Amino acid sequence: MGKSSKDKRDAYYRLAKEEGWRARSAYKLLQIDEEFNLFEGVTRVVDLCAAPGSWSQVLSRVLIKGETFGRAGWEQKQEATRRQVLGLNKEEKEGQEEKEQSAAPAVQQPKPRENVRIVAIDLQPMSPLEGVTTMRADITHPSTIPLMLKALDPETYDPDSPSSSSPVDLVISDGAPDVTGLHDLDIYVQSQLLWAALNLALCVLKPGGKFVAKIFRGKDVDLLFAQLKIVFKRVRVAKPRSSRASSIEAFVVCEDFCPPEGFKASLEKPLGAGTQLPTDTTVAKEEKKVSRTVRADGAIELDFGTDDEDEDDMEEGGKRWIAPFLACGDLSAYDSDATYKLPKDRVSLDPVQPPTAPPYRRALEMRKIAGGAYGKTKGRAVKETA
Ligand code: SAM
Repeated sequence: MGKSSKDKRDAYYRLAKEEGWRARSAYKLLQIDEEFNLFEGVTRVVDLCAAPGSWSQVLSRVLIKGETFGRAGWEQKQEATRRQVLGLNKEEKEGQEEKEQSAAPAVQQPKPRENVRIVAIDLQPMSPLEGVTTMRADITHPSTIPLMLKALDPETYDPDSPSSSSPVDLVISDGAPDVTGLHDLDIYVQSQLLWAALNLALCVLKPGGKFVAKIFRGKDVDLLFAQLKIVFKRVRVAKPRSSRASSIEAFVVCEDFCPPEGFKASLEKPLGAGTQLPTDTTVAKEEKKVSRTVRADGAIELDFGTDDEDEDDMEEGGKRWIAPFLACGDLSAYDSDATYKLPKDRVSLDPVQPPTAPPYRRALEMRKIAGGAYGKTKGRAVKETA
């Protein structure tokens, strides 16, 4: 498949190149922020599984450069559109426009934040980004934690007392394994990445902090939600418009980190499908009545309400729990499952930042040496055996 046909089939792939993002995933984070106002008050962030770095780019542009996207950006965009419409009917609306303009909020100037610290971690190397400390490490390995804490506070980090480091406001993880196509195996490896990200987050988040991570909505995802609900006040599942509806991918958005009293994150006994937090009955009483609201911006919000009398929401003593699901992203945004017609004379751009050392490079080299997916010998196609 050529660049051009991918441009047509994937609006976000094309848009990312046009707007300077390293990957189309940037739109997923931006659309989640649009819904959850993720970056409000945030200055210290850890971006797990960060390469090639589009999420870190978003962090750098919002926190370091002070650019506005998310909800505030969306409101500005709406305002601009409204003014444009008014401008088209200028004669009829004369006077009204002036009135509207004087009442309209001023376009916000970039407001860089102070004392920002962003640490990005991935197995793959990542090209540098302004204000982002990049680390090449495996998030499933315990040795990554001290490295991460040191990267967060290089001046004050004390290896003998690692917990003295200042905690972070937000941990995000877009971790994905190399997909094998074996559905169950892919879901399993993905869930291991997620548990690893959560265990890292539990070690560094400050009370009130947030955790956002990619999930595959597999069979036992409700076990995970139940665990998350023990340590976060709000747990919701977000599906940004830029994530294909046909994909089982979604993002769990956990807000207001409030570990039970006496809770201490332990890497010797990390949380996972085997080790779980004891259930706190106070968190087992959420959800039941589902109400559906279509908001002014067109997004659909499912509200599961609270019913104190219903205590069997969590099965087996509170081990399973269904998190509210939220479709996010402005409805006027591109549909990631649609194919768009492009002008004939359009030139397809190169990716902003091709992977520095992609794991598939060797496979591509081997294929090239063999003369394509199928090596050719004496005019006859033979299957590559290497
Ligand atoms: N959020 C990134 C962005 O916006 O550019 C894209 C992340 S990409 C979908 C998934 C990343 O997970 C890959 O770069 C991969 O190397 C990384 N990854 C997978 N397993 C990992 C592990 N055990 N430790 C660290 N990174 C891992």
